[in-house]
Amino acid sequence: MFSKILIANRGEVAVRIIRACKEMGIQTVAVYSEPDANTLHVALADERVCIGPAAATESYLNQQNIISAALATGAQAIHPGYGFLSENAGFAARCQRHGIVFIGPDSAVMDKMGDKNNARLLMKQIGVPTVPGSEVLQPGQDVAALAAEIGYPLLVKASAGGGGKGIRLVETPDQLEKSIRAASEEAKKAFDNGDVFLEKYLTGVRHVEMQVLADNSGRILCLGERDCSLQLNKQKAIEETPCPVITDTLRRQMEQAAVKVAQAAGYTSAGTVEFLLDRDGHFYFIEMNTRLQVEHPITEEISGVDIVKWQIRIACGVPLPFDQQDIHLTGHSIECRICAKSRGTVDFLHVPGGSRVHFDTALVQDSEILPYYDAMIGKLIVYAPTREDAIRKMEAALCELVIHGVQTNIEEQIAVMRDRRFQQGDYDTCFLQTLNR
Ligand code: ADP
Ligand code: ADP
Ligand code: MG
Repeated sequence: MFSKILIANRGEVAVRIIRACKEMGIQTVAVYSEPDANTLHVALADERVCIGPAAATESYLNQQNIISAALATGAQAIHPGYGFLSENAGFAARCQRHGIVFIGPDSAVMDKMGDKNNARLLMKQIGVPTVPGSEVLQPGQDVAALAAEIGYPLLVKASAGGGGKGIRLVETPDQLEKSIRAASEEAKKAFDNGDVFLEKYLTGVRHVEMQVLADNSGRILCLGERDCSLQLNKQKAIEETPCPVITDTLRRQMEQAAVKVAQAAGYTSAGTVEFLLDRDGHFYFIEMNTRLQVEHPITEEISGVDIVKWQIRIACGVPLPFDQQDIHLTGHSIECRICAKSRGTVDFLHVPGGSRVHFDTALVQDSEILPYYDAMIGKLIVYAPTREDAIRKMEAALCELVIHGVQTNIEEQIAVMRDRRFQQGDYDTCFLQTLNR
């Protein structure tokens, strides 16, 4: 096993990974930007290296400084968390060239699956359904005709997109050109790649994703699904597992499709295959996330499998010691993402407790919410035997959670738990947008 790992991230996910390392007896190295010097992940790690100023491009995305920090501290592996460099195949390859293990899939696999257009092409080859759409748009192409053929409404999507960035909804032909330009420019800025394609916009669908875990010997397991339909601006806000409307038969089919995708990609480590599910039980591949997912803890709750520890073990060459038949998913788990809606200093913090209630966060008393990074400041996670119990438990936990000094979305999350349609499981990806909030 590794004796020392560098965590190339900040916030709750860095804390999550450091905790896993501690439990495994692995030494940890935190990296941090100047304004993050007094944050929790830095305090919890065994060693710490400042990698630059506030701007992510100069610190958490600064590949050179991160690799130097790993070499200087003798870290054998780097865990990238999610966001930042986690889906950067170039960074994974660079780690390898320096003899450092990148905790994630092989860089060539990341390259292949990280590009939405490439991934769609692979799905077509292996017979996994995708949303009807085009390939990457080429200069001089008759996009109006292409769009008319696909039909409106449609989405312009950046091939390199992630985190809801580089997506535009086009409802009528007159918006097409402008949306293509806007999506492409946004993607060029965020991902240094302006490639876009068109995809039919499906309505009344749910976002249902499958968690896979694959080792280096070819064993691929699926740890069930997560329903992530509760989104605002194409970003997930609340996730639950199991999906309240899925049947066992459909789950098996989606599991098989996800495993097929992982197999075809030559995938190793933890990954997520995202699908849209319509009311008739048809599902369509939208993308694969070749990394740890924000909402992984709800899967851990119902499966009892520690996904982060398995990412580390697999990166070290340890084979999975269990089979699909050994995976037993029980009970129900919900996650609410807690986001800051303002800057400020957390001058009072109370975190709810109780059986199978936990708050994954890097917040402590007097934490400062900085404008440079993601607005998500914590994830409240509950587990209960049934969905009804889990919703009640989440409502109680949200009511108990107190974060003073910054504005948060706690009240909005409580409103969802109290909403009748949510309680009935009757929601799709547009539900939160239309809920009065
Ligand atoms: P998940 O599907 O795991 O919930 P999200 O799409 O919400 O993932 O992204 C998780 C985090 O990573 C968010 O903070 C998001 O802003 C960030 N992120 C996602 N994709 C990228 C990317 N390609 N580059 C940089 N940050 C990203
Ligand atoms: P990202 O990489 O930013 O996560 P995704 O392709 O996963 O991009 O899309 C983000 C969200 O947008 C999905 O979770 C879903 O809610 C919505 N979405 C994506 N594709 C479609 C589509 N073809 N029709 C309807 N909604 C979609
Ligand atoms: Mg996605």
